[in-house]
Amino acid sequence: MSDTKTSTEAPMNLYEMATAQFQRAADAIALEPSIRSILTEPKNEISFNFPVRMDNGVVRMFKGYRVQHNNILGPYKGGIRFHHDVDVHEVKALAAWMTWKTSLAGLPFGGAKGGVTCRPNELSRPELERLTRRFTHALGTSIGTEYDIPAPDVGTNSQIMDWMMDTHVNTVSILDRTRGKGVVTGKSLACGGSKGREKATGQGVCHIIDAWAKDSGRSVKGLKVAIQGFGNVGYWTAKIIVDMGATVVAVMDHTGAVGNPQGIDVAGLKAYMDANKKLPGFAGAKTITPNEFWGSECDVMVPAAIENQITGVTAPLIKAKVVVEGANGPTTTAGDADLARRGITVIPDILANSGGVIVSFFEWLQNRASEYWELEEVDARLKRQILEAYSNVTATARERKLDFRTAAYAVALLRIAEAYKARGVFP
Ligand code: GLU
Repeated sequence: MSDTKTSTEAPMNLYEMATAQFQRAADAIALEPSIRSILTEPKNEISFNFPVRMDNGVVRMFKGYRVQHNNILGPYKGGIRFHHDVDVHEVKALAAWMTWKTSLAGLPFGGAKGGVTCRPNELSRPELERLTRRFTHALGTSIGTEYDIPAPDVGTNSQIMDWMMDTHVNTVSILDRTRGKGVVTGKSLACGGSKGREKATGQGVCHIIDAWAKDSGRSVKGLKVAIQGFGNVGYWTAKIIVDMGATVVAVMDHTGAVGNPQGIDVAGLKAYMDANKKLPGFAGAKTITPNEFWGSECDVMVPAAIENQITGVTAPLIKAKVVVEGANGPTTTAGDADLARRGITVIPDILANSGGVIVSFFEWLQNRASEYWELEEVDARLKRQILEAYSNVTATARERKLDFRTAAYAVALLRIAEAYKARGVFP
């Protein structure tokens, strides 16, 4: 299940894993030592404790983070995670991945990530609102429309972004209120969000699956897909890939797993999930074990939950031809090694799930210009931008004889290195 972190690997915190990926790519492109050392640690690590009054009157302390990894290419950018496993190593890793992701996607942004260690599902709506507003207030001027722009991530959504934006604009000067709306992306449409932002990450995952299918002489039609996670990314990936003609044969989240080799009715599963808050028991599929899920007969495996899921233990079970990382950091170093040994292609997170931040960029542009773009325009621009990143990665992999993960890092790092070389290090 998505929360399982069991593995026989030597314990590595998430930042060590992210650093190992970075160092491998830095070696592959012989990255200049000074640039390598700048990129090895984040620029700012902000952590703080803040109080929230619970509905029963008791005040509870929460820990919040914002890690700003790098801003050579533009303002810091990246999501806010509300989850009980949030810690400084995780936020640092996720922030570094944002730096590579925005660079690879060709966006004028750097990378950051934030979060609060909490169980959002156990908080009432008023508690969640007070927590969000107090967290945003504590961030203060560490975020800003042209400085650091948060967005949704695991455990957060457009409502939380609306509260963040509202709290922020109420604390800046009245002259900065209109501009202040762009301080977060992933807002609701009513509050200046973009059409197509909610589905954007899943939409991008589906463009990548389609491109991989074409490149390997297949068609997306008839592909069998297994998806871990049925939150924003997992659900939209499932819905869109079925609309494109594929079949979803298995879905797993932290509540359990279900499978149906004939194909799962995604809308039916979503309705069941909304009503029952769990996947097992859905009449249109059989309840299966986590190991049966990982061993599903499928062409495409999409981890779309959290990190450390495809490990030295679960990777050997996978029968798919390609793993498309909808989540950030779902594959451990041992998991990667096993998949590579068995010739299973991995399309890495920083490419596969970049649809979200690409449409966040479009939302930010629309807010700056006080414009609203039609869905067709958002969709067309997203497709163009993510497929260009995909071609850059596959071309680099071919030319430099690298796996896709290392090639994706190479494209991202070369763009950042060029900026450092041109600008130099101040003073
Ligand atoms: N949290 C998403 C990610 O990991 C989106 C970030 C954003 O839109 O800024 O890419």
